[in-house]
Amino acid sequence: MAEPRKGFRRCSRCERNRSQRFFAPRGRVCSTCRKQAGRKAAHESRVQRTYGLRPGEYDVLFAAQDGRCAICRERRSQNLSVDHDHKNGAVRGLLCRRCNNQLLGKGARDRADVLRRAADYLDAPPAQALLGLRIHIDNQQA
Ligand SMILES: [Zn+2]
Ligand SMILES: [Zn+2]
Repeated sequence: MAEPRKGFRRCSRCERNRSQRFFAPRGRVCSTCRKQAGRKAAHESRVQRTYGLRPGEYDVLFAAQDGRCAICRERRSQNLSVDHDHKNGAVRGLLCRRCNNQLLGKGARDRADVLRRAADYLDAPPAQALLGLRIHIDNQQA
């Protein structure tokens, strides 16, 4: 990588050459990286406080799940939610908000038997077994 031009400095973290205005007078880390580190630290302390995770454990889970929701496997730009069992507080894993709140919470009420039947239902819809395919296209809506 080229040496920074005059008026520029290389951030020791993101390793980009950035204008001086992104740095504190003697700082080696750019303001973007500093903010990011602050947010990460705040998140880390929140998950420790709220879920009893030890330092670095969120990152262990996140890396093991490849940064994806453990259920839908989608990657999120935001942090994943720490999902826990509301009965005993035990941490189960990291989920996207939708899977955590809508699917497990509202939809299945944390019941594995409900989710198993939901999967079976989608794989083999009972109405199709009884009536055959019924496909209705409502022309009024088109
Ligand atoms: Zn940086
Ligand atoms: Zn999900």
